[in-house]
Amino acid sequence: MRLGFDIDDTLISLREHAFHIYNKKLKQDLPINVFHTIKTLEIHEPFGLSKKEGNQLWIDSMEEIYFSDCPAYPDAVEVLQELHKQGHEIYYITARPAKHCEQTKKWVEKAGFPVQEGRFFCGMKDEEKIHTIKELHLDYYFDDKPNVLETLTNESVQLYVRDQSYNQHMEFPRLTNWSELKDIVKKHNTSK
Ligand SMILES: [Mg+2]
Repeated sequence: MRLGFDIDDTLISLREHAFHIYNKKLKQDLPINVFHTIKTLEIHEPFGLSKKEGNQLWIDSMEEIYFSDCPAYPDAVEVLQELHKQGHEIYYITARPAKHCEQTKKWVEKAGFPVQEGRFFCGMKDEEKIHTIKELHLDYYFDDKPNVLETLTNESVQLYVRDQSYNQHMEFPRLTNWSELKDIVKKHNTSK
């Protein structure tokens, strides 16, 4: 099967990682339960920053956020490795800026995810992901962002939303833990 994955906040816990970095940079000590109440993709609000300040801090912190020790979600690496070993094709489609693509690919490999040549796509805008996803004829695609998933609803790919506070309104099949993916694949195989 051909399985496609967004990376940030789908396979790895990037916003939470950035929340810790913001605490450090802004010399604040907001507890993690504040993070879990944020209903927007952007995380600057509880730090008392305006949208403009928040955007700037994100841009200034981007390399540190991307390339330090952001953790993968539980079971993400293990399950993708297992599926790869079973012969499934694993594709990554990330809208990270083009200048960070090469380093991102290396980072994802180093984090333990299975990355095959020609199966890592990066540097497109959110709304452009649809073109790559269509061309790849994916069976499944997993993402956290409403504005990405919404562009794909008319395509034949089976979509899953990775559960997050800001996508609760979406009526898609929902994945909360990566261990669930094994059952999804198993069910798909037995229903054929
Ligand atoms: Mg994402």
